[in-house]
Amino acid sequence: MSSEWSASQRYELTSAPGGLGLVQDFLNTMGIEGYGPDLMADTALAGNWAASAVRTWSALRGVDAQPPLLDAADLSKLRALRDTIAKLVAGEPPTGRGTGSVSASFALSDTGEVRLEPAGSGWRWLASALWGEIMLSQQDGTWRRIKQCHNHQCGSTFYDRSKNNSGVWHNVKTCGNAANLRASRARRWERDRAAESPASTKLSGT
Ligand SMILES: [Zn+2]
Repeated sequence: MSSEWSASQRYELTSAPGGLGLVQDFLNTMGIEGYGPDLMADTALAGNWAASAVRTWSALRGVDAQPPLLDAADLSKLRALRDTIAKLVAGEPPTGRGTGSVSASFALSDTGEVRLEPAGSGWRWLASALWGEIMLSQQDGTWRRIKQCHNHQCGSTFYDRSKNNSGVWHNVKTCGNAANLRASRARRWERDRAAESPASTKLSGT
C-alpha cells in the first residue's frame, strides 16, 4: 500500500483518514527528543519528507502531484506554518493571519467531483495542500479528532478513533502510563515526606 506517512509512522501513530493524514504527518515532522529529529531542520530531511508525503497524498487523492522544491527560506516558513497549525489543533485562538494567504485552484475530476488543488511553489504549495485538507476536515467533522498527545515530552499529533472522542494520549500504554507513573511517584513522595515529618515521627515512636 502506498499510504505511508513517514513522519507519523516513525512515532508509531495511527493515521488520520484520507488526505487529512497529510496534516497529521506535517505536524509530526517536529522532533521528539530520543525518538526522532525535526524533519524541517534541514533541506535534505525536509525534501525527503515532502517527496514521501506528497506521493502518499497524491495516491490517496487520485492526483499526480510533484513534491515542491524546498530551500532554507521555505523551511522557516514551514516551521512557522507548523506552529500555527499546531496551535489550532491545541484549540488556541488564531493570532493574526498565520503565515499569510496562499492560493488554490478548482478542478473537476473524471467522475465529476469538484476538487481543490494546491497551487504555488515551495512552501506555498504545501501550505495550499494543508489548508485545503484542514478546510475539508473542518467541514466533515473529522478535525476535532486531530489532537496533540497530552504527554508534553511527546506532543505527537494523533487521530482519536475513540467512540466519544475522549482520547488524550497518542498511546495509553506508553504516554498514558508514563503520566500515571509520574502522578503515583509524586503521591508516594508526598506520603514519604509526610511520614518523615516530626509530627509523624512522634506518633510512630509510641
Ligand atoms: Zn504520546
